[in-house]
Amino acid sequence: MGIPLLQKLIVGSYVVRQQLAGRKRYPLVLMLEPLFRCNLACAGCGKIDYPDEILNQRVSFDAAMKAVDDCGAPVVSIAGGEPLLHKELPQIVKGIIARKKFVYLCTNALLMEKRMKDYEPSPYFVWSVHLDGDKEDHDKSVCQQGTYDRAVAAIKMAKAKGFRCNINCTLFNNADPERMAKFFDDVMAMGVDGITVSPGYAYERAPDQQHFLNREKTKTLFRNIFKRGNGAKQWSFSQSGLFLDFLAGNQTYHCTPWGNPTYTVFGWQKPCYLLGEGYAKTYKELMESTNWDSYGVGNYEKCADCMVHSGFEATAVRDAVAHPLKAAVVALRGVRTEGPMAPDVRLDQARPAEYMFSRHVQAKLDEIRTTQPAAAKHTVTTNMAEAG
Ligand code: SF4
Repeated sequence: MGIPLLQKLIVGSYVVRQQLAGRKRYPLVLMLEPLFRCNLACAGCGKIDYPDEILNQRVSFDAAMKAVDDCGAPVVSIAGGEPLLHKELPQIVKGIIARKKFVYLCTNALLMEKRMKDYEPSPYFVWSVHLDGDKEDHDKSVCQQGTYDRAVAAIKMAKAKGFRCNINCTLFNNADPERMAKFFDDVMAMGVDGITVSPGYAYERAPDQQHFLNREKTKTLFRNIFKRGNGAKQWSFSQSGLFLDFLAGNQTYHCTPWGNPTYTVFGWQKPCYLLGEGYAKTYKELMESTNWDSYGVGNYEKCADCMVHSGFEATAVRDAVAHPLKAAVVALRGVRTEGPMAPDVRLDQARPAEYMFSRHVQAKLDEIRTTQPAAAKHTVTTNMAEAG
């Protein structure tokens, strides 16, 4: 089981409470990006293409705790950039655990062995190591030789010290089902507790635009992988069975962008983790000022190929709570990998894409230059020390 019983119970009861309270929109996982700076430059990354002044910004401990409290989600996924470059991260993790929230610390693992002493094993804490496939696939995906071996060494060290340790895996259109199935077998043999898998989102700023999956290819790829693992039952996924069923083309889902609200150095990102179409200063403002109906597959051109876990896992969880029998059948029988697929959402009425990246970057640069010119210089120095 990729999700421990304690977490299932706490998250399940949270969802039931929200439903009983009649809340239409509520968060499940806070995506906290405390910095954009990274120590890798992956070809499929759409998060690190910012000027240095923005890459040098950090979400402070106080701002991170306020985001956690304001949002109230039972799970916090810390991403980036590379979170282990953030000097206050151990305090941030401790602060979230003290609030009895589950923390997934996503890392490329290059600094993990060195920084592991700053963290303690806890049922509320999970290392989530980025691994996009076997040694050859992963090193190619992150554009640096040797990263797979370092990640595997860090996973082994974490397991030996008693930590929960997952992998998070992003698939592109060059993924080979046979090798991916073998890779999942390998990570299970390493003692990894759970796998998070998702097709990559076609970030408009990612350097490599050729290898993102479209919807049809995504569903076929996941069917071809899951059929090699007994309908995915052979592996321990840290995701709901219905989300995996959706990836294999068996569910027609609309996304739930407010299910994974995202807080970054820009503030609360509209509407989701994948699109930066504006920013709100407070969580309340995000929820009240975002025109949610203008986003999602079928509503917006940029959403056309999205099947990413941060958009659809919350949909699957809500579906599982509303239809427990359906979820139980998938859990018992595994994901169906043969037969007709569920109809997909129509795309022909989607509004055209808007491109606003440069405007947001310029607004943030103006803010930094007027409010913290000295701090910007100081952070450059700090970062050089951190990177070592
Ligand atoms: S489909 Fe939903 S989660 Fe995906 S990019 Fe669009 S709004 Fe975000």
